[in-house]
Amino acid sequence: MHSIFYYSHQLAQYEFGPDHPFKPERAQKALELCNRYGVLNQQSMTIKTPPSLKRETLLLAHSDEYLDVLERIGAGEIFQEMLQFGIGTEDNPPLRGIYEWSSKCAGATWEGMIELLDKDTDIVFNPLGGFHHARRSRAEGFCYINDLVIAIKEALNYDRKITYLDIDAHHGNGVQEAFYREDRVQFISIHESGKYIYPYSGTVEESGEGKGEGFTINIPLPPKTDDEVYLEVFHRIVVPLIKDFGPDVLVAEIGADTMISDPLTDLMLTNNSYTEIVREIKGLCRKILATGGGGYDIYRTARCWTLAWAILNEVEPVDEFAGRVGGMMFGPEMEVSSLYDRPYRVTGPQKDTIRQEVDKVIEYLIKRHGL
Ligand SMILES: [Zn+2]
Repeated sequence: MHSIFYYSHQLAQYEFGPDHPFKPERAQKALELCNRYGVLNQQSMTIKTPPSLKRETLLLAHSDEYLDVLERIGAGEIFQEMLQFGIGTEDNPPLRGIYEWSSKCAGATWEGMIELLDKDTDIVFNPLGGFHHARRSRAEGFCYINDLVIAIKEALNYDRKITYLDIDAHHGNGVQEAFYREDRVQFISIHESGKYIYPYSGTVEESGEGKGEGFTINIPLPPKTDDEVYLEVFHRIVVPLIKDFGPDVLVAEIGADTMISDPLTDLMLTNNSYTEIVREIKGLCRKILATGGGGYDIYRTARCWTLAWAILNEVEPVDEFAGRVGGMMFGPEMEVSSLYDRPYRVTGPQKDTIRQEVDKVIEYLIKRHGL
């Protein structure tokens, strides 16, 4: 087995601005933590630099018109029409260099897919990818170029079956839209319900159209959902659906903004459920393309991604600095002196309300898919 970790220091240093919640630096923190815990030093692992994508490849997900606008923005131009393309908002500011930056982040996801399709690579992780909100002609939700759509479209050119599993706290609207009428892509998104947060979509009734009917699966969850309820949903719905579909490649958007401390969402997960899910994913498909995504508590996100990388590669994290005088401590693992969080459980009437809401979603999907 061979695996690839995509990383570029230059891309990780890119700034969305001091007040913007999206910090590409998370990728650097994840890489450092992987090194510290000795999970990135196996012979079977390669660290690769993301390549830039040609216009022709970007067109798999975006319109020419939009790419022209993005290129001009990237060169430093500011103009009125950019707003029609979603640029110039608080979420998606006009950033110098954004075209080249996004194109390289997407380059890693795309090349990672090619490696999985062509070669004996089984695991790819691109912590600088996972821009699931970008639409065909519109930037949204901190996303400008939809690397996931580009990579999955490329896989369809090779006539492969893809499961796209999105465990980010937000609905994967950009990816859903691109494959809504497609039966070769199984789209599954588990997210905080759109009744409460952006992008306000991803209801259980959104299930695909035409030959894609039934291949889009949305699992909206109420605020304060904890590990216990989340895992139940995953085991009862997601696992049987993926087993049934039998993908050639599983693309996983493993954003970590579901975590209890995330400032932008209301789910209450710990990395105990997050890692259990990564373990399950590992058992569901030989070839896995994992990308970053949300995650606005950057240290906790780095821990999630370090653990995910270790699990996907079946290596055990060992703190190489443990017990050394003056060894650096790294963010919140100080609390528990482990990469794993303390377990957390919601109880009482609040839990009953959550359970009732989630049971309705589970029942609906069980019936809908004959599980
Ligand atoms: Zn998110």
